[in-house]
This record gives sequence, structure tokens and C-alpha cells, in this order.
Amino acid sequence: MKKEMKFIFVTGGVVSSLGKGISAAMIGRLLKRRGLNVFSMKLDPYLNIDPGTMSPYQHGEVFVTKDGGETDLDLGHYERIINTSLTKESSVTSGKVYSTVIENERKGLYLGATIQIIPHITNEIKRRIIAGFNAKDDTDVCIVEIGGTVGDIESLPFLEAIRQMRRELGYENTFFVHNTLVPYLHTTGEIKTKPTQHSVKELTGLGIQPDALLLRCEKKVDKASKEKVALFCNLATNAVFSVEDMPFIYEVAICLQKQHLDDLIVKHLQLDCEPEAKMDDWIEFINRIKKIKESVTIALVGKYVELHDAYISVYESLKYAGYKYNKNIKVLWIDSEQLETDDELFESLKSASGIIIPGGFGKRGVEGKIKAIHYARVNKIPFLGLCLGMQLSLIEFARDVLGYKDANSTEFDENTTHPIIDYLPEQYKGIKMGGTMRLGDYDCELTEGTKTYDLYQSKFIKERHRHRYEFNNKFKQDFIDNGVVFSGINPQTHLCEIIELKDHPYFIACQFHPEFQSRPLKPHPLFDGFVKAAIEYE
Ligand code: GLN
Repeated sequence: MKKEMKFIFVTGGVVSSLGKGISAAMIGRLLKRRGLNVFSMKLDPYLNIDPGTMSPYQHGEVFVTKDGGETDLDLGHYERIINTSLTKESSVTSGKVYSTVIENERKGLYLGATIQIIPHITNEIKRRIIAGFNAKDDTDVCIVEIGGTVGDIESLPFLEAIRQMRRELGYENTFFVHNTLVPYLHTTGEIKTKPTQHSVKELTGLGIQPDALLLRCEKKVDKASKEKVALFCNLATNAVFSVEDMPFIYEVAICLQKQHLDDLIVKHLQLDCEPEAKMDDWIEFINRIKKIKESVTIALVGKYVELHDAYISVYESLKYAGYKYNKNIKVLWIDSEQLETDDELFESLKSASGIIIPGGFGKRGVEGKIKAIHYARVNKIPFLGLCLGMQLSLIEFARDVLGYKDANSTEFDENTTHPIIDYLPEQYKGIKMGGTMRLGDYDCELTEGTKTYDLYQSKFIKERHRHRYEFNNKFKQDFIDNGVVFSGINPQTHLCEIIELKDHPYFIACQFHPEFQSRPLKPHPLFDGFVKAAIEYE
């Protein structure tokens, strides 16, 4: 018998950036720890098909799912906090929805009907939400976050679609969580609930009565204020939750559990699961990281360093590895373009115990990154190169050790006589149809006896990709003869996946993005090894 679909819909009101994605992910963690399989989705109101083509300045990092979906960075929080892997179905944008409807119209699938927001757009949204629930065979409950703020023009079709879903699937299969901001007025020492009342009014005006309210506030929202909100917004007092500012986001899960949000959801959705979420390891983790005093400095050299969200998964992965060794990570954000000419900035690089070069596209800042790589290689500073970081470390090596002065990637210099990194269309034959980027999971075989192998403790791994260019195997022997170890290779195509240097305490670079698979309680092996080496270097 097909089990019933259960949905938790998460909306936000008053202001954006409330951290409703974090709260939703923490709900997911609690439910997972009650033995349920949780899938999650983000519905984004923007008209881009996906964030793949957006500037990182607009939407931060592009998070890549294992099946190659280019998605919103919030899905990264979901994967890390719930400790699950999501799929392309997790990410729905207005762009995707509208383009499907318009394509269908061109194909004549609507049999001459006038195409309208309701029902055609809303039907397509509902179809995609259901596809999300069915993306994995074992989903018990699906958390659906609606991007934007209630009242925005853009998100109206999404809200209308979820309103219809309660009507169609039933009360016991749908749960609405609304997040709002509760301002605290320092002058009078008061908590103000009016914006929440307005936001809920707006939502009920659209036909959605929330089943739980999460009040984001600087201070803990007291019982009297909760009662007031409950009365004005037509909810039981135990359906109103305080989510006050906390030093570590991980605590949100514990804060919600203490107020029994998971119990309320389990009861409402009639979920068959464990009576309690076991969070002992999570609590132990929080207590331990709260006590950490020491830190280790890591320089991150990139093009978008002013916006830390552009490197959020890298930053999180570094932090998790640091926590394992009871260290906080102090990131030195270094602008790669500025590094090309700014000697003072270059001096500051010297205070770092490790250097990391994350992924990137385009020529700007590339020479600054190469300069940092040169410094790390020659001075034996722990180094981790990710995607573009690997490509540039091989270019640096080719220029400086192999003596190929004009070595480059054809992404940056089409006429180089030494295209160490090249676009090799034939390498894509048989990999995936149509695509020009290598996206999502690919196999990698590790060579025993290498540092990489020691870190992974495994011969076959899968890692996520998002790039167009590859190491050109034509030059491989030269590199091997001079001390580069190709420690990870794609077994089907023989493309280079990981390299390390023989004569260096920690110089590892990979063509993929390990940052997408790191977890708070289980840092990724390459980050683990890198941070450990940086601590030892100090
Ligand atoms: N620009 C490089 C490529 O397309 C690297 C991409 C990346 O770092 N994600 O191959």
C-alpha cells in the first residue's frame, strides 16, 4: 500500500533572513532522530531556472546535489543538519515552473485552454512538490520551505499552491510553520508582537492558518507574550515557539525540542515514529564547541571574499574539521585580485597556518591565487585546493617546476602552448548526455599508499563536481616524474580527480567539491586532514 504523503510547509513573514531555513533544517534533524526519513525542498520565487548562472553576489554559493542539481545554498544547510542527501527535485524556482507551463502550452497539452496562474501554474507547483516527496522511495515526511516573505508578489502562487494542498491532502497530512520577527525594543525593554499579528493576518488572508509560529527574537519570548500572540493569531499557546538568538545555530534544534515542536508535528501529522528524538551526541557536540577557546588561522583566497555566503559550504566544512580538534577556525578572507599587486596583503597571508583555494570561474584573480599556491608549496604551508584550486596548483607547478612558462588553462588563455587544463569535449563522451559541465557525483579510485588514501581509508569514493575544464593527461608523466602524485583517478574516463605532492606535509587538491559532503559530526576527510596539518604547522 502506498503510504500517505506528509508535508511540513515553512513560510516566513515580516522580514527576510530570519533563518527560517535553519529552523526548518532543525525540525528535520529532530524528526530524523525520531526514526523518520526526511526529504526537504526549497521553493524559490525568482525567475531564474536555477542559481547556476547567478552571480555569487546575488545568491551566495551554488549548492550541488549528488545527481547534479545546481541549487540554492539553503539545501546545503538541509543536507548538513539533517544529514541526508537531496536531489534535483529539492529545488523549485518560479523560472522552472513557468518554463514548464509555457513549454506545455507550446506542445498543445492544455487543449486550447487559457493558461492562467490558477490553476496552471499552481498545478505545476503542486506536481513538483509531490515529485519531491517521491524523489526518494523511503520519504516519510517532506519539509517544503517557501522562499521570500509573505506578502511578496512573487511568492503568491507558491502560497496558493500549498493552500490547495491542505484542501486536497487533508489536515492530518499538512502542517504549516510560519516564522516571524519579534522585535525587542531596548529603550523600553519590550517585546513587540504587532508585526507577527500583521504577518499572520496576511497569511490567513491567503487562506493559510499556521499550525505553529516560530518567533525569532533577540531575547527569549516569555510566556505572556506567547499567550498574546496565540490569542491574536488563533493558535494554542503550545503552538507558539520562541527562537531567540543563540551563539551556535545547532542549539536551535534543542531549543525547539525543549518546547516540544517535534511532538506537536508528530501528533498533528499522525506520524508513526520513536517517542523522542535522541540528541545526546548533538548536545555533547554543542557543549564541547562552546568551550573552545583556541583557534587556527586559515587563509581563504577567492574572488568573492566580501560575501562569505559565496563560500558557505567551504566555511562550514572548515569549522566542522576545527571542532573535531577543539579549535575554532579564524578565516583570513583574501581577495585574490588584490593579492596580485598588494604586498601588504601578501604579508598578511604569512600569518595563516593553512591556505585554501576554493572553486571559481573566469580569469579575474587567477594570478593572485597562483601566487598564494606558490607560497604554500615552496614554504610547505598546508594547502587544500578545490576544483579551480586544483587546476591552478597544477598550472603553478607546471610553470615553476616543469618550466612551462606559459602553462595555463584554456579557460584563461586559449593560445597557451601548454594547456595543462583544457576543455576536452571527447572526455565527456559517454559520461552524460548533452551537458558541457561535469555536474554531481562521479566515481574516483584512490591509489593505496598515498596520503589521500590514508585520509579516506577507502579505495572507491564518489564526490560532487561542477566544472567544465579538466587536467590534460597528455602532460601527466612530466608531473609524475617531478613529484606530483595522482592519488585519485576516475576509473571510467581516467580523468584526474585528486593530486598530492610528495615532498610536502599537506598539499592536496581535488577536481571536485568535497565541501558539499561535510557534516558537523563528521567532517570530510580532506578538510579533516587539512585542518589537522594546519594545527600541527602552527
Ligand atoms: N572554472 C573551472 C572549470 O570550469 C573550475 C570550476 C570550479 O572551480 N567549480 O573547470
